[in-house]
Amino acid sequence: MRLAGVAKAVTLVIVVVPFLATLVAIRLLWMRAVHWSDLVLLAVMYTLIAFGVTVGFHRMLTHRSFRPHPAVKLVLLILGTMGMEGAAVQWAATHLKHHALSDRDGDPHSPVQGFFHAHVGWIFAGTEADPKVYCRNLVEDPIVMFVSRTWVVWSLLAVAIPFAIGGWSGLLWGGLVRICLTHHVTWSVNSVCHTFGKRPFATRDRSRNEWIVGLLAFGEGWHNNHHAFPRSAFHGLRWWQFDLSGYLIWALARLGLAREVYHIPPTLLARAKSSAATPAAAPTGVPAPAE
Ligand SMILES: [Zn+2]
Ligand SMILES: [Zn+2]
Repeated sequence: MRLAGVAKAVTLVIVVVPFLATLVAIRLLWMRAVHWSDLVLLAVMYTLIAFGVTVGFHRMLTHRSFRPHPAVKLVLLILGTMGMEGAAVQWAATHLKHHALSDRDGDPHSPVQGFFHAHVGWIFAGTEADPKVYCRNLVEDPIVMFVSRTWVVWSLLAVAIPFAIGGWSGLLWGGLVRICLTHHVTWSVNSVCHTFGKRPFATRDRSRNEWIVGLLAFGEGWHNNHHAFPRSAFHGLRWWQFDLSGYLIWALARLGLAREVYHIPPTLLARAKSSAATPAAAPTGVPAPAE
């Protein structure tokens, strides 16, 4: 009980402090120009850690979209943990629960319970999933469990590295503002992409494609595509659907650092497209939600 209270307090600090620090950063920016090195630090930290979340936590760990080289796996999991969105195994379990129960009773973060709940409120609602139920295979994976058990170390690194490089302004921009951006962009996939945007596929949920989130979240905004084909390594399915995470997986495969990259079988894609084109058609049930 006491431990749960501490966990809630820590979560509150992790959510609120970076947001307030961003307001401080904007105020400082207003009073004097920010140094370019702070913005470079912000951009580099954001890019590396966003890949950790999108390619590492989401596509590799949760959906097994490709099989990584063990070193790549370790690096991606550490970068993802620096996103300060909790331990890897817990992240995967909660996300698999979202796919299993999308926009129905038990979905950890559906806007059916309100936009604010889907965005950030759910974090405080105690709707976390049990990894032993949703991803038993990951609980038995030594690399996943090592990074998950040491998540505090990697989370501290996420603020220690920018402080070591840029001092207090580095901590502010590369650390706290970066955390705030990572959080809100990730949360927007849960809130915005289940509320606004287009639905090219008739999935059994409210998932939508929203291009702005697609840009900011390195391809994760093509969320209706993702719910229709959860295991696909590419969330952008058209040439104009910018999917930076998909391009990284492609590059890793070319370098021999990733194999068994999952591509949607053309027949499955054609079937999903034709059923979406028929208004009365049943929702596509492909592939299995937990994959
Ligand atoms: Zn979703
Ligand atoms: Zn997913």
